[in-house]
Amino acid sequence: MYMGSHILGSKTITDRMLCSWIRCRRKAWLDQNENTHKKVWSAHRALQLDHQHKSLEGFLSNSPQKGIDGLKRGAREVVGVRLRGLTSLGFHIEGHPLLLQKINGNSFWGKFSYIPITVRQGHRITRENRLSLAFWGYLLEQFQKIEVKYGLAISKVNNDLEVEKIILTKKTKAELLDSLKRINKEICKEDPPALISDRKKCALCSWKQLCDEKANQEGDLSEVNGVGAKRKNILQEIGISNLNELASTSPIDLSKKLSKYGEAHEKIAPQLISQAKVQSNLIPKRLGEKIILPELKFAKEVLIYDIESDPDARHDFLHGFILLRRRENGEWSLDDAKYKPILNIENNNEKAILNKIKHRLKAFQDIPVLHYGETELLSFYKLAKRHGENEKEIKIMTVNFIDIHARLKRGWLLPLSNYSLKNVAQWLDFRWTYKGSNGARALLWWRQWKRSVEIRNRRSNKLEWILKYNRDDCIATWKIAEWLLNEQ
Ligand code: SF4
Repeated sequence: MYMGSHILGSKTITDRMLCSWIRCRRKAWLDQNENTHKKVWSAHRALQLDHQHKSLEGFLSNSPQKGIDGLKRGAREVVGVRLRGLTSLGFHIEGHPLLLQKINGNSFWGKFSYIPITVRQGHRITRENRLSLAFWGYLLEQFQKIEVKYGLAISKVNNDLEVEKIILTKKTKAELLDSLKRINKEICKEDPPALISDRKKCALCSWKQLCDEKANQEGDLSEVNGVGAKRKNILQEIGISNLNELASTSPIDLSKKLSKYGEAHEKIAPQLISQAKVQSNLIPKRLGEKIILPELKFAKEVLIYDIESDPDARHDFLHGFILLRRRENGEWSLDDAKYKPILNIENNNEKAILNKIKHRLKAFQDIPVLHYGETELLSFYKLAKRHGENEKEIKIMTVNFIDIHARLKRGWLLPLSNYSLKNVAQWLDFRWTYKGSNGARALLWWRQWKRSVEIRNRRSNKLEWILKYNRDDCIATWKIAEWLLNEQ
């Protein structure tokens, strides 16, 4: 039996259970059976709730009424309704729809009925959206005695509210019942399901820490850098079940076995084995002998560039730069590093922001511009294109851009499961000013700061936190570049 578990006694399945199960079966099980103290706060979850709140606020015409009484009275919009019912399979279900909206129809209540509303996160309708609507619709039908044929998925994107009608087909309802049947079976098992194959999804989950520990202890294949969900399945299919087994496989043998899954898998076999070995013996490995950062050999200055964005709003709200100078004795020192941010608060004059960045780049036109990952180059390229810059001009402005992440991956294998800025810089003992800060938390601070300005017309100190976080990202980029310089 799993440590700390107390197996669910009741068979009531809730909408929250359903959503967790759709994201990850293990999550649904842990939510029910594991000690909640092992959960960690997730900035991603806070961002989702913030988006949900803003979308609902944008959708509501007036203050909604509350509970079953609101439904009885025929209120236009109703929140806080708890619906309980029974499935055709004989077990109990319970749901708390986010919002119900009145439409025409002859229901148990009178000449009106209700449909459920869900909030879309990101740009696409998900299975979670469809099945949540189907779940609430199924319960509503039992209450109002009229079929619920559709629901709405809403999402506030920038200042626009997007509303999409989701038809609840027979197929969706059948999928819901099948899912409920499976949840009912799985949730009562003694041991939790395996880790999700696509562990990128774990970034959003409050059980991440617990699952990371398990993956690490067991040498789960998803821990090997370069092994995603698909490759993990393939490796398991050919009989490799953990990191140590991968590390001790012969490259020729693995290439041969992977060849039937395509050239890309076949070619990457030796690299996967080397990566697994590095993670197993914890010793970094140099790849080739080529100098990794030749541009920095005689450089007297470098500019470090890092962007903070709100991806849902497609808004790069901060372009941070640090100028670093080499001392006369040849050493680089952060002591007199100058941080110069360009803030794009309103996102209503991109051209002016572009001109500021161009001005900055021109002022330091012959010096290397270091950034981590492709975001900075891509964002600048797209911004310049949107404002009519031609390819040749853009190329001149970006010719000195150096992607430290790409250079690192070309030159080294590290004993790390991923090569993100946070992971690599922390491995080099760099610490961010605010413990536990990351891109999602910075985005949350940004949205909270914007809201504090909009609602209370009062500025919180969260913008300062963001600036500090962005400055730390620039310094972390430098720390990795410096390590590459010292080790090359
Ligand atoms: S951390 Fe990942 S594997 Fe663990 S419960 Fe969450 S989504 Fe599932």
